[in-house]
Amino acid sequence: MIKFGISVQRFLRDSALALVGLMLTSGIAIAADQSKPQTLFTNVNVFDGKTNGLAQGMSVLVEGNLIKQVTKGVIEAADATVIDGKGRTLMPGLIDNHIHLALPGPTLPLMETDKTWEDIAIAGVIQAEMYLMEGFTTVRDAGGANAGLQRAINRGDILGPRIYPSGAFLGGRGGHADFSPFTAPIENQSNMSRLNIARDVDGADAVLKAARNNFRMGASQLKVMQSGGVVSAFDPWQMEGRTVAEIEAAVEIASQYGSYAMAHSYRKVSILRALNAGVKSIEHGFMYDCEIGALMKEKGAYITTNLTAFAPGLFDIPAVRDVPASLRKAKSATKAFAGYIDNMKKCPAKRGFHTDCVGDVSSCRKQIAYEKYLGGDFFGNYTTLVSLTSIGGEIAAMTGEFMNPYPEGALGVIEEGAYADILIVDGNPLEDLSVIGTQDKWFDGPDRPEGVETIRIIMKDGVIYKNTLSSSRAASGDEGAATIRARLTIDGRIAIYGVRFKTDNAELIEGSADTIAAIASVLKANPEVKIAVVGHTDNRGGHDHNLDLSKRRADAVVAALVSKHGIADDRLFAAGASFLSPITSNDSERGRALNRRVELVRVQ
Ligand SMILES: [Zn+2]
Repeated sequence: MIKFGISVQRFLRDSALALVGLMLTSGIAIAADQSKPQTLFTNVNVFDGKTNGLAQGMSVLVEGNLIKQVTKGVIEAADATVIDGKGRTLMPGLIDNHIHLALPGPTLPLMETDKTWEDIAIAGVIQAEMYLMEGFTTVRDAGGANAGLQRAINRGDILGPRIYPSGAFLGGRGGHADFSPFTAPIENQSNMSRLNIARDVDGADAVLKAARNNFRMGASQLKVMQSGGVVSAFDPWQMEGRTVAEIEAAVEIASQYGSYAMAHSYRKVSILRALNAGVKSIEHGFMYDCEIGALMKEKGAYITTNLTAFAPGLFDIPAVRDVPASLRKAKSATKAFAGYIDNMKKCPAKRGFHTDCVGDVSSCRKQIAYEKYLGGDFFGNYTTLVSLTSIGGEIAAMTGEFMNPYPEGALGVIEEGAYADILIVDGNPLEDLSVIGTQDKWFDGPDRPEGVETIRIIMKDGVIYKNTLSSSRAASGDEGAATIRARLTIDGRIAIYGVRFKTDNAELIEGSADTIAAIASVLKANPEVKIAVVGHTDNRGGHDHNLDLSKRRADAVVAALVSKHGIADDRLFAAGASFLSPITSNDSERGRALNRRVELVRVQ
């Protein structure tokens, strides 16, 4: 996560990784702005979210928060910021259809007894940012989250994906939504219930009321806990936790809002019952078979499944391994679910990507990467990419005209009129899924660095949140004279990203000239000002090497200001800081790119 004590807006403004298409004063623009900045991606091969293949040599024009044009060859857009994809793949932002932003783990009892609303909110903020920086531009919260986090993200106060919240999951006493301690009396209201994260609601009338309350608190769809679970305390996974009347009550309220209900269902009988009651999204659905597939098709329903349930390492997860009852449940479940992968291959259903991670950021990052890997391993890269993009978009659209929090365009596809939620990645993910960040190990794998290095651009709603490619405006726009003067006056310093050097070298690259001219114009207009030019590097290589490199880079900037612009050399001095003053962690390419910079410091 970003570890500075400054606002998101300020971070975006400073980072130069996000200069493109950004309306600084209006936050992340959900509503259209008066002016609609354009971003033009040229020379990209497009995976559109649906087609098994790349459209070669394309240009994609973004205007405001929507995709305006997708064309082979050149698009004329004189005012657009141009990003040359250099033959990389442009694809839709990823969608995870089953996550839990309000369940910070590590265990269900601890979430109930140990977490205040502050713990939960802060964990959600951190998770949301992690999701966005892993390339997920949309997530469906499958129970727990209400509208608060979504609203903060939409306002631009914090970083995160679009969120489709479900509100509290609706289960019964002793069911999969019952987080209360063993000794809790029957009339006990759990902490999770007070926070509208999980509710025990028994009887159709209670479900009606809780379902309405979820929509009132910002849910865009509902979630019922039909089956039991493996790591939960009271509920065998085989049980039916909901009567037909209780499921139908949730479905009825969802339909009244023009939306849909999803059901946590494991057994075949549960899945069929849910579908027949009008549920449109089967969660987990581990006992899937061709009869279910046929009924799903008839009903226009979707399934999302966490494939980690079929991982060889399942019995080694601490929540399973260390709890004898859970271990016993996991063993019987594994046997019962053995047909899933073959059945899904034989009778493919519309299946969305599903991580279901509960816990801290570093374990979730591993789980996401492993879930992607398993998708490719079991069902192939194309099917996995579709489940990560266009299927997620179709599921999001089921929230309907009234309740869809993002109704302006389609999600999960690259097409005209769709939301500008876009990734640019190195290589072709249809051939090599690792370019979107896979890992072939789960908890036993190494910690993953922040972000995926081969995801070079992350755009959501027309705003760029990560850019490790160069763009035409980065060198000349926001580091213009006015910005430099303002920052030197207010902050006494400014980090400059438009001045760039060849790798591991102090030679300025051509695109730096505009920014150096802007610095010179500030110095000419303010003859009393003296500045230090300070070179900063990332942490690759030793200190002595970086000290020398950073000093030589600062010298090069001073030399250009003196020789090309006639600035008196007694107003300038050059210094190197090596890697000793990073702006952020060097653990990701994004962080290293932020740390490699020249800073101007006002000396007088
Ligand atoms: Zn879940």
